[in-house]
Amino acid sequence: MNRLLGDSIQRVYLTGGAGFIGSHIVDRLLADGYHVTVVDNLSNGRREFVEPHFGNHAFKFIEADLMNDSLVRESMKGHDLVWHLAANTDIIGSHAKPRRDLNDCAIVTFNVLDAMRENGIQPILFASTGAVYGELCVDNPVTEDAGPLLPISTYAAGKIASEAFISSFSQLYGVRGWMFRFGNVVGGRMTHGVIYDFINRLRANPEELLILGDGTQQKNYFLVEECINGMAWSFLNIPMTEEKPADIFNLGTTTITKVLDIASIVVEEMGINPVIKIQGAKRAWPGDQPKVNFKVDKMTARGWVTRYSSNESIRHAVRRMLGKESLS
Ligand code: NAD
Repeated sequence: MNRLLGDSIQRVYLTGGAGFIGSHIVDRLLADGYHVTVVDNLSNGRREFVEPHFGNHAFKFIEADLMNDSLVRESMKGHDLVWHLAANTDIIGSHAKPRRDLNDCAIVTFNVLDAMRENGIQPILFASTGAVYGELCVDNPVTEDAGPLLPISTYAAGKIASEAFISSFSQLYGVRGWMFRFGNVVGGRMTHGVIYDFINRLRANPEELLILGDGTQQKNYFLVEECINGMAWSFLNIPMTEEKPADIFNLGTTTITKVLDIASIVVEEMGINPVIKIQGAKRAWPGDQPKVNFKVDKMTARGWVTRYSSNESIRHAVRRMLGKESLS
């Protein structure tokens, strides 16, 4: 059997493991025979996503805040790899509370790295975002070396700070960092995002769908299991070395989807025919990035591609949200 992270790793420390992507990682790692410790404060995650594993001796769930640096240091002891997903993902909410992005993105990442340094743990897989590109990726698809990075949300600022700390700890303290700037990750356990929002609003009112923003939004969507495989594949196939101890990879599909096409797929899969209205604002909310368009050539050149296009991924995710398809 091909185990997700190979055989050199046995014990994984997974932050944010009760969230959407993290809980799928838990399912997969436990199925592959790894020991997994999840630390999650359930600020956005859900206990029910990980509860099925509570009796499993290979699984430990710590409900705690990663802002608690001594807890992070102690609980990390004895692990082989850190998979760091915890972050504030409520971009709309953080407009009123920007400190959440400083704390839950930047400082939490620092705490995780400092605990790695003290515990002598080297590999970290980190969930960054295409949002770091800000306005750079509006007109043309960008590669990983695009810059200067001038974020338009405090969320993206927190992710850039995290990348910077990972890079510096890799140069100074032997950390090995795989950093992934995701497109939009979709699947059946989403707790936010455009697909989740459309389905919920159409359930409440099947007669009408209001599209926030100006209707021209377009992004790269890919399925959660492809996201997880892409990170694990990079860990196994792209070694970090003393010369290059950390690197950044755009992760997603080679295609993008317009928001109006998402609406069509949702409506079709729900079997309804609402009136579609467009709000007309340039940004759907402060910090919204209507177009995220990046190249994934760095990954494809090394041999990794997604199985599904952006449109196909959306259709699978919608069907999973509607219970028409199993979760992965
Ligand atoms: P999610 O909100 O479902 O998961 C994040 C988890 O982190 C949640 O369970 C939350 O409770 C936990 N958390 C937040 N702050 C914490 C803290 N201080 N201490 C302990 N736990 C804390 O989000 P997701 O969609 O699963 O995303 C996972 C990661 O991937 C995040 O870092 C996110 O920024 C990144 N990402 C996701 C997408 C996407 O489309 N889903 C796109 C780009 C990047």
